[in-house]
Amino acid sequence: MSHPNIDELLAKIPGSLTAHETQSRFSHIWKTDEPLHCKGVVFPRTTKQVSTIMQWCYKNDQEVVVHGGLTNLVGGTQTQADQLVVSLEKMNRVHAVDPKNRTVTAEAGAILENVLEAAEKQDLFLPLSFGARGSAQVGGVISTNAGGLRVFRYGMTRNWILGLEVVLPNGTIIENLKTLRKDNSGIDLKHLFIGAEGILGIVTKAVFRLIEKPQTRHSAILTTNDFSNLLQTLRYFDQTLGARLTGFELLWENTYSTITAEETHYKSPIQKPDNYVIFVEMLGKNVERDSNDLQDACAHSFEHEWISDAAFFDSASEQEECWKIREDVATLEAHAPHNQHFDISIPIDQIGTIINNTIQQLLSLDGVLGVYPFGHVADGNMHLIVGKQNDSPKLTQQINEIVYQPLAEVKGSISAEHGIGLDKKPYLHLSRSQEEIHIMKGLKQLFDPKNILNPGRIVD
Ligand SMILES: Cc1cc2nc3c(=O)[nH]c(=O)nc-3n(C[C@H](O)[C@H](O)[C@H](O)COP(=O)(O)OP(=O)(O)OC[C@H]3O[C@@H](n4cnc5c(N)ncnc54)[C@H](O)[C@@H]3O)c2cc1C
Repeated sequence: MSHPNIDELLAKIPGSLTAHETQSRFSHIWKTDEPLHCKGVVFPRTTKQVSTIMQWCYKNDQEVVVHGGLTNLVGGTQTQADQLVVSLEKMNRVHAVDPKNRTVTAEAGAILENVLEAAEKQDLFLPLSFGARGSAQVGGVISTNAGGLRVFRYGMTRNWILGLEVVLPNGTIIENLKTLRKDNSGIDLKHLFIGAEGILGIVTKAVFRLIEKPQTRHSAILTTNDFSNLLQTLRYFDQTLGARLTGFELLWENTYSTITAEETHYKSPIQKPDNYVIFVEMLGKNVERDSNDLQDACAHSFEHEWISDAAFFDSASEQEECWKIREDVATLEAHAPHNQHFDISIPIDQIGTIINNTIQQLLSLDGVLGVYPFGHVADGNMHLIVGKQNDSPKLTQQINEIVYQPLAEVKGSISAEHGIGLDKKPYLHLSRSQEEIHIMKGLKQLFDPKNILNPGRIVD
């Protein structure tokens, strides 16, 4: 192992920070009071510079951790003192939207929200939407194959990527910024990098597919006592509203009541929420027809006693308020200062039973203060925030085991969308077979034989 003089590299990339200059940097947006430990931070402005950095690091066995918007929830951007950080934040251009081909090309450091806005200005639409869209960057979103609130209708990030440019750990640039919808000329390599959490290469640019912007938006909050009624409502809404049903999200009652409690600034639009509170989004074309159809679907569900109450939101400001309730993870976090986040996938018909059993088991554990379930129920993806008295490793492990153990039996997943990072690695075997993990390790060995890029993420 050589002992590289990092100053040699930092001098090549203007604006770099040495280890002594990184006090204002951090490894996660929620850890701004914990200074970053690393050998330095480089801010490439071009793909060529990313390649120069990786060539140097490859030659000198220098470990690298890639930083995007730092919103991941699995320790993916944590660093050690002997690692170099490559931050893509200066490569933040959103290139012109192409309305004829309905595509947008963006650099890896572009904030997702800016890409969405650029598309909307041309009456086009990229339906990726989640709470961190104002901070998450294109490269991070692709590397985590992010999902969010509209996956049920539109799929995850993978569905929206037409072309990628990537720099491999040895500095080789793979440029495939095609705008084609169809290309079966051999193995589609871009998919190897989507969701790879930066262990195979650094994403530097991407081409997204766009669709026509919906003209109308309507939202509703419904409530029901029974999980099978919730599923019945989802089925009926999907049948009657069709492609206009774009979001069907769930908060358990205690999660909803915590977010809309008196001390928060939200006002609950539902008088007496039952066990489950459902958030519905409908995107369409015709204001009056869409509004009527949504109200009719609710009325039908009410008559059949699948739901017990509903509130409707038509104006943009009302809808914004309504969806803030669904997305306000910060209030839950504040309620549970020591906490663990989960992001699991379960076959949709088993969510009610499994989550309710899990809640009971967690609450009977000494040291657990509260459990707040919510999530993308139509995708079978539930999040849990578990509040606890302290961060003792024993309690943390006990909680992990209660949440993860039932998943293997029902062919669920320990990560529906956030990935594995460093935090969930010990549990990967519950979601993936030994053969699959072996292939992942083989790919890592192929792309990064020196194990210098995002080492230790997903697999060892
Ligand atoms: C409030 C909140 C709500 C969220 N809601 C959702 C949700 O609904 N759905 C969802 O899927 N996620 C959600 N997330 C998680 C997170 O926002 C996503 O995973 C996001 O895509 C991460 O993007 P980022 O730019 O912040 O990446 P980072 O956190 O910076 O990085 C994530 C991983 O990708 C790697 N990486 C970053 N940039 C690159 C690059 N250019 N090339 C290669 N590797 C790279 C990093 O090394 C790291 O391993 C949420 C997070 C928060 C805080």
